[in-house]
Amino acid sequence: MKIVVLDGYTLNPGDLSWDGLKALGDVVVYDRTSAEKTIERIGDAEIVFTNKTVIDQEVFASCPNIKFIGVLATGYNVVDVEAAKAKGIPVANIPTYGTTAVSQITIALLLEVCHHIGEHSRSVLKGDWTNCPDWCYWNYPLIELAGKTLGIIGFGRIGQATAKIAQALGMKVLAFDSYEIEELKSDTLQYASLDELLANSDVISLHCPLFDSTKGIVNKNNIAKMKDGVIIINTSRGPLIVEEDLAEALNSGKVYGVALDVVSSEPIKADNPLLTAKNCIITPHIAWAPKESRSRLMDIAVDNLTKFLANTPVNIVNK
Ligand code: NAD
Repeated sequence: MKIVVLDGYTLNPGDLSWDGLKALGDVVVYDRTSAEKTIERIGDAEIVFTNKTVIDQEVFASCPNIKFIGVLATGYNVVDVEAAKAKGIPVANIPTYGTTAVSQITIALLLEVCHHIGEHSRSVLKGDWTNCPDWCYWNYPLIELAGKTLGIIGFGRIGQATAKIAQALGMKVLAFDSYEIEELKSDTLQYASLDELLANSDVISLHCPLFDSTKGIVNKNNIAKMKDGVIIINTSRGPLIVEEDLAEALNSGKVYGVALDVVSSEPIKADNPLLTAKNCIITPHIAWAPKESRSRLMDIAVDNLTKFLANTPVNIVNK
């Protein structure tokens, strides 16, 4: 059985092993695959793994042997899952590997907006403290989170894990989700409509998947409904934000600060307006990437294929 991994480098740049997959078939791992090469590289393979390489209708039409697609990520928007379903091809994702890592960096990004630790350290290392007339200084407003409200859009695994850390910092949480879980409600955690969340949150963090219904959810219209000076964090998917609108809101001061791990087109384009917007911190899609979580991802990817081959499929997103 032929197994092709289209873009294995970011999952395993050399510190993990592909042996688990190799035990299941003949495996070819490509570090990265361009759109022009996707069809040729899949060829007559039956099993395809992708992380961010797009698999669309054209690929399914040109590669009739495909029997299973394994997405090496939680978000599976790179695969046309309806086209796969129409051909009877199951698509499996990795739902849980990164919950702790992504919620951890979400709060790290928020703390960075509140304290600008990186900037302050760079300032000290270049001599600003040595030359300071006072015994301390700060280059940005410093923000205490206790008592402030965190609005979480998409209250699934990562949203809930983020809420727990925020509550430990003394924050109140407003959650917006298509499904409400009664047991999660408490004195410091309430569900809200999207408009209530937008109007009452000091910090808004995005944790919903990228669907047609969530694309561009942070846009001019919704930003206008937010508190002046709001902070926005996005560790989910870049296209949830209309970047021109957010850059304008940052530059006008309507939005105080933003921290992003994801942008609309990755790697980030040189003309992305957020690169030059005021008070915008951007990391290169690293939330998922601690070795601990990549290692879990690899194990679950192998398990997904093992169970599919045993006729007991799990984590199928297009049933
Ligand atoms: P999850 O499925 O557990 O949670 C998603 C939640 O969003 C669900 O509760 C769902 O009901 C809700 N939702 C769906 N549509 C909605 C809508 N229109 N409005 C409001 N809520 C809606 O997923 P998760 O494990 O929490 O992951 C969330 C997202 O995080 C993933 O889809 C992925 O895009 C992103 N992610 C990013 C990284 C990274 O490295 N930056 C890593 C892993 C996951």
